[in-house]
Amino acid sequence: MPTQVLDQEVVTAPEGRRTPLLSRVGALVAGMVTTAKEALQGARVTEFYPEEHYVPFPRWRGRHVLRRHENGLEKCVGCALCAAVCPAHCIRVIGAENTDSNRVSEGERYAEVYEIHMLRCIFCGFCVEACPTEALGMSGEYELASFSREMTLYDKGRLLEPVPINDGKMTGD
Ligand code: SF4
Ligand code: SF4
Repeated sequence: MPTQVLDQEVVTAPEGRRTPLLSRVGALVAGMVTTAKEALQGARVTEFYPEEHYVPFPRWRGRHVLRRHENGLEKCVGCALCAAVCPAHCIRVIGAENTDSNRVSEGERYAEVYEIHMLRCIFCGFCVEACPTEALGMSGEYELASFSREMTLYDKGRLLEPVPINDGKMTGD
């Protein structure tokens, strides 16, 4: 039985580990046959992106969106719970008070500043789960590559849904 000395301990190889040569060659040939079969008749898995766009699953966690109520007011109340739970510390929220002359959300407060740094985001979705007003969601958008760091900082203007038109549909629909 083969033995080996490692740091004063004697390690003994278990019995029956060796595979006969014929069996190993057989496994190799079986693998090559499978590869050849897949290459000749398997389903095509290549995506011809960007000519053909991949449609992600409905629960895909893509770019964030800030939602509005049907009356156009923002759902976000600037509580910053999303920023508090974010493990990557990539959300910045600065809240402000609504006034009679400047009502932005239905709550007492709204987010005057709302930013997500997408370069840091790990798309875990914790922020969405923490949001008490369902203001924050994640869209199916995955084309987030950029040539500059500045473009990866998504401010409120880029995250906020468009103002809905009268029949409740979004202007961007
Ligand atoms: S998805 Fe995760 S990492 Fe990205 S902003 Fe939300 S909590 Fe932070
Ligand atoms: S998105 Fe939700 S959790 Fe984040 S500040 Fe707005 S209301 Fe609070």
